[in-house]
Order: sequence, then C-alpha cells, then structure tokens
Amino acid sequence: MDKVKESDLITSFYFEPVDGLPIADFQPGQYIGIYLHPEHSEHRCIRQYSLSEAPNGKSYRISVKREGKGETRGTISHYLHDNVQVGDVVELCPPSGDFYLNHRSDGPVVLMSAGVGQTPMLSMLNGLTRKKTEQPIIFVHGTMNSRVHAFGQHIRDIAEKNDNIEQILFYDEPTDTCSGHHYAGRTDLELIRDKIDLPEAHYYFCGPLGYMAIVKKTLQGWGVTEDRLHYEVFGPHKDL
Ligand SMILES: Cc1cc2nc3c(=O)[nH]c(=O)nc-3n(C[C@H](O)[C@H](O)[C@H](O)COP(=O)(O)OP(=O)(O)OC[C@H]3O[C@@H](n4cnc5c(N)ncnc54)[C@H](O)[C@@H]3O)c2cc1C
Repeated sequence: MDKVKESDLITSFYFEPVDGLPIADFQPGQYIGIYLHPEHSEHRCIRQYSLSEAPNGKSYRISVKREGKGETRGTISHYLHDNVQVGDVVELCPPSGDFYLNHRSDGPVVLMSAGVGQTPMLSMLNGLTRKKTEQPIIFVHGTMNSRVHAFGQHIRDIAEKNDNIEQILFYDEPTDTCSGHHYAGRTDLELIRDKIDLPEAHYYFCGPLGYMAIVKKTLQGWGVTEDRLHYEVFGPHKDL
C-alpha cells in the first residue's frame, strides 16, 4: 500500500495484492470496496471508492476526500487519511459498478465532474489516452480553488500532449495565488456550450447531487437524449 497526497483534501492510496497474483481487471469508471475496522468504531465498515487510475494489471488506486470535520468528520475517509499507513494490509472487494465508458461510438466524450467526483473521470481519461483514441475528449472540472484541486497538473500535461483532449476548469472561489483555471465561479455549462454541445457526444458526469441535477437538466434542455447521459452517484443510486 502506498499513499500520496494530491491536494489539501484528497489523498491517493495504491494497493497491490500481498500474494503477488494478478488483480481482477476493471473498466475505467468502476469502483472497489474497502473493509476497515477503526479502533474507535464498534463495527467493521465498508466503503466504496472509484478507481482513479486506468487498469494496469498490477495495482489499484483510489483517491479519497476527507469528508467533514470535527463533530461531522467522516469515519472512514479520516481513518484512511490519518491512520492507514504505507505497508498496511487491507481487505478489498473486487471492482464493480455499471458506470464506465459503455457507448459504442467514436464521437466526442465529455467527462464532467465536481470535487472528488473527478475520480472515475480520471480513470476514463487515462484509459482513453492510453488507447491513443483520436476522438475529441473534453474534461470539465469544478472545484473550490487550487488548494483542494487534485490532479490538475496531470490533466494539463495530458491535454498538452494530445490535440484531441481539452481541459476546462472552474474554480468556485479562486484565491490570489490561483492560476490555470478558465472560469471563476461554479460550473456553468452555458458558458462552455460551444465547446461541449456536440453532435453524437456522450456525457459522463459525477459530483454532488445538486451539481449532477443541474448538469442533467442543462443537457436535456439542449436536447441531449437519455442514451447519451451517463452518471454516478457517490452513494445509494438516485434518479436526478
Ligand atoms: C460508487 C461510489 C464511489 C465513490 N467514490 C469515491 C471516491 O472516489 N472518493 C471519495 O472520496 N469518495 C468516494 N465515495 C464516497 C465514499 O464511499 C464514502 O461515502 C465517503 O468517503 C464518506 O465516508 P466516511 O466513512 O468518511 O463518512 P461517514 O462516516 O459514512 O459519514 C457520511 C457523511 O456524513 C457526514 N457526517 C458524519 N457525521 C455527521 C453529523 N453528525 N452531522 C452531519 N453530517 C455528518 C460526514 O462528514 C460524511 O460526509 C464513493 C461512493 C460510492 C457509492
């Protein structure tokens, strides 16, 4: 197990099997389950985390946001950040989930996320990049500011090296030291409609429920058909 801080709020964890055998394959966008039993908790807990890296046959990566603070601190996200250390052994459930690139078209792919909702999008983006696809890919991400923004440089590098990939970044509340974002304020798809309202495009999105409801409504308003809308809720499934 390896551990890498990605931003003030998000840390990645890398897992390799202790027996050295190959890991179960997965589709970019899917998630794994992790069992943990914090000392202060009566129960063993399970949580799901999207795999944030594309498949490589050897390891899984998850990227976890610290949820809440003080009285409202999330049990497992804080336990992972504060207590789980490099070299620890944890029990995982194999990858699953029906949120992955499952459309059959070489048309544009629009990957949209807010906050830690970017984890499945990152796996999809990395997977598409490795396949050297030429289809247009637009990666739209919204987060508070550069302090909590994870993987910004990684995506900038990918976009610089691949003419078919573009990143569009919204910072809700940029500080004086923020740079690299394209818009200040929450994600507003109308501002970038000329870039993402594309014939045959498929839209994948993940983030807080309110964000996803607005994204879905906006896309529907533009006439995007249901079969081109794909989304994941980080919790029990909800219709938006
Ligand atoms: C398919 C799927 C994929 C996911 N992928 C990711 C991912 O890639 N990265 C990621 O970070 N998360 C992901 N999640 C979310 C993750 O599974 C956990 O739900 C998240 O880490 C919170 O777990 P926790 O144990 O820290 O919080 P819990 O202890 O379960 O608490 C849940 C929420 O309640 C809040 N809370 C706790 N106590 C109070 C209180 N007294 N009053 C008000 N609020 C309170 C916490 O702050 C937290 O936000 C995913 C979930 C699903 C279902």
